[in-house]
Amino acid sequence: MTPQRQRVLALFERIGEGSHLGAEEVHQRLLRAQERVSLATVYRTLRLLSGMGLLQELELPEGGRRFELAGDAHRDHHHLVCVRCGRTEEFENAEVLEAGNQAAAGFGFRLVECVLNVRALCPSCTAAETA
Ligand SMILES: [Zn+2]
Ligand SMILES: [Zn+2]
Repeated sequence: MTPQRQRVLALFERIGEGSHLGAEEVHQRLLRAQERVSLATVYRTLRLLSGMGLLQELELPEGGRRFELAGDAHRDHHHLVCVRCGRTEEFENAEVLEAGNQAAAGFGFRLVECVLNVRALCPSCTAAETA
């Protein structure tokens, strides 16, 4: 693994499971930690690490992406994402996982990841809309 990949992975390990960071946030944090790295490199590294299964990618409604550590105990969880402010909450649901498993098995696929992304409006954005 290249030093850059190690640094990005180390950053995610420091902040721990369940934190979702966009490429720009990762870049900012690396710069603050005196790491000299370009945003393009951060993008490339994030894509590589999620391809290797070390990070989990979360697609946001506005076409953005966030990444988080893909720990074994933290892989199969789902996301509730506010479409206005991007607030992200996690939840687990065994039925969703079971549905994914059954669908995969039905077509003879081997399940790699089963994630449900729910788009919603958080309470404060709902309040702002009705105000
Ligand atoms: Zn998550
Ligand atoms: Zn919101």
